[in-house]
Amino acid sequence: MRNNLAVTDPDSPSRVTGRANQAQIAGDLGSLIAIPSMGGHPAEVTVQEFLAGRWAADGWQVHTWQIDVAGLSARPDFPGMEVERTQALGVAAIRAGSGGGRTLMLNGHTDVVPPGDIAAWSADPFSPRRATINGRECIVGRGACDMKGGLVAAWEALRMVDRAGISLRGDVVLCPVSGEEDGGLGTFAAIDHLVSHGDLRIDACIIPEPTDLDLVPANGGALTFRLRVNGSAIHASRRAEGISAVEKFIPIMDALTELESTRNVNVDPLMQRWPIAYPLSIGTVHAGDWASTVPDLLVAEGRLGVALDESMEQARAALEDAVARACRTDPWLRDHPVTVEWWGGQFASGRTDTGSPIVSLVREAHARATGTAPQTYGGPYGSDLRLLTGIAGIPTVQYGPGDTVVAHAPDEYVALDDVVTCAEVLADVIVEFCS
Ligand SMILES: [Zn+2]
Repeated sequence: MRNNLAVTDPDSPSRVTGRANQAQIAGDLGSLIAIPSMGGHPAEVTVQEFLAGRWAADGWQVHTWQIDVAGLSARPDFPGMEVERTQALGVAAIRAGSGGGRTLMLNGHTDVVPPGDIAAWSADPFSPRRATINGRECIVGRGACDMKGGLVAAWEALRMVDRAGISLRGDVVLCPVSGEEDGGLGTFAAIDHLVSHGDLRIDACIIPEPTDLDLVPANGGALTFRLRVNGSAIHASRRAEGISAVEKFIPIMDALTELESTRNVNVDPLMQRWPIAYPLSIGTVHAGDWASTVPDLLVAEGRLGVALDESMEQARAALEDAVARACRTDPWLRDHPVTVEWWGGQFASGRTDTGSPIVSLVREAHARATGTAPQTYGGPYGSDLRLLTGIAGIPTVQYGPGDTVVAHAPDEYVALDDVVTCAEVLADVIVEFCS
């Protein structure tokens, strides 16, 4: 559902860049899906090498560098990593301008999540295929939606500017990254290499993550945590004389449910479309090692949503306080308090002012291309947006093809015409921003 606010300008710059090449988009997207670039797998590097090779052939300056995974992950501001990874390749293609203009980065992650239960897929997740879904021509495969479709749209946008023979003053930087799904290693490394230690000044960034062509200038954050609940083991036949870690987890779970409610009473207007703007969810629970033993340990892992403008420290303290308060109401837990550990992905929240030029330019370009205004709201998930806005101070928006409802799901797909529209909008924004 979009507003019917027609803003079509007959002299719009989108006419300058012409139409996106759908056949080329479908071919490139298929090539990317066929590389099973799951986080932590060697193909994460392969897909980066593939893009570097293709973009050099397209005539852009391509920089590649080996990412110092161990060195970066030891830094206090490192955003986290949840998979084993010793190697990662940084890539940035630069379409150099004539000078004096603004620099726009198009950033997209090339890592994908594992396919999950293969039986839930109607075909091999890494063999891209075409299908008509809801009457639309789609490409199906792991990463089609999240977010190889968006990355191909950015690639095609840059080619459209080239094909139109447009000379820009500013540079355009196409930056594919690894490790977004498990923390943000690739974008962290790109900021470090290109901005902190390079001489690149980036004035704005667009991440074509799947937003269903809506405009997402803000993200709630997400902090991964682990709880350890101790009990006292005994044969199940004498359970009254032991302490079950499972039973002691119940008041903790109740406290977390209540915490989630209180944290979602007053939410930022950008987040009000979501039933729960800042979810607190337990993802794994493991307890005990024998059916007829009272379990002496329960380990639960989960994810805490971070509100817009809330620091990660404030969010962590809220959860730790809730757990500590619950422990104080139980004699056993008072003496054996539940421990909270923060590990893995630590995604801060982030936002770009909706009055920022990049937000208006994407909104206007979308309106020229589609005749409708995009909806504008914050995403309830953490993404690389918070690294670009938070660490590097770069105004960043997400705008891309595909609906997050199929991201990470079996038979993940993206509609080809949405990728085409995204490419045309991005080409338009490039010309507007970098002229
Ligand atoms: Zn994504």
